[in-house]
Amino acid sequence: MPRKPTLSPTRIATYLECAVKYRYIYLDRIGRFYIRARPYYSLGSTLHQVLHVFHQEGGRQSAEQVVRSYEQSWISAGYESAAQEQEYRDAGKEMVISYLDAAKERAVLAIETLYLEKTMSVDMGEFLLSGRLDRVDRHPDGSLEVIDYKSGRWEPTPEEVASDLAMNIYQLILRRQFPQTRVFATIYHLRSGTRASAELSEEEAERFTRDLLELGAQILHRDYQQIEPVRTAACDDCDFRSRCERFWRQQEALDRF
Ligand code: SF4
Repeated sequence: MPRKPTLSPTRIATYLECAVKYRYIYLDRIGRFYIRARPYYSLGSTLHQVLHVFHQEGGRQSAEQVVRSYEQSWISAGYESAAQEQEYRDAGKEMVISYLDAAKERAVLAIETLYLEKTMSVDMGEFLLSGRLDRVDRHPDGSLEVIDYKSGRWEPTPEEVASDLAMNIYQLILRRQFPQTRVFATIYHLRSGTRASAELSEEEAERFTRDLLELGAQILHRDYQQIEPVRTAACDDCDFRSRCERFWRQQEALDRF
């Protein structure tokens, strides 16, 4: 029996951004020829790695140990200049140091870390819904908090967490895996040390599940050979732009004849 296809927040978000991009990455598999490293991805990966080790060690690392781990985990890819890399490097170091203080405060509240960088999936019928959860904490009252780290410039609001595709998918997965347990989601903003949370109600979770089933079916059954690139705002920052530009130039040349 063939394996069920898997849809993740990244896959779904890519499709919603541009179906052609989805085809290039997941069906044509040409991403490696186009997708470039970016400073924020490199910094994000470094920070995730450092925080993963910190929690794996039971949150007992000193500031010096965390900074050493940060230096050892540093990913240099994607920076435009040495000055830019240094700027990101300094900002990241501040983030991990202030994270340590916040983690100590949280330890006093007897919150237990249940999972770190955990891939979890649930069967949605036609496909598996899968997500890689940065961290899941269990609170003393039994509730589960899924936490995602963000290192971007903007502080998220509870409304943004509530409308975040990945955070809602993570909640859905945990709700299925832990029925009768309260689940909520938090984005932890590493630059400011602030957090914003949101929780799917029963009704919202049901509606979100229905929407996902519909969207999943659309993603899986779309005829990708028939779709053509269309210019949108997403093209401005897209790694595949040169490929689509070539297509548009060819189309324009054909239209002239
Ligand atoms: S350049 Fe535009 S049309 Fe082409 S893959 Fe990227 S977002 Fe899609």
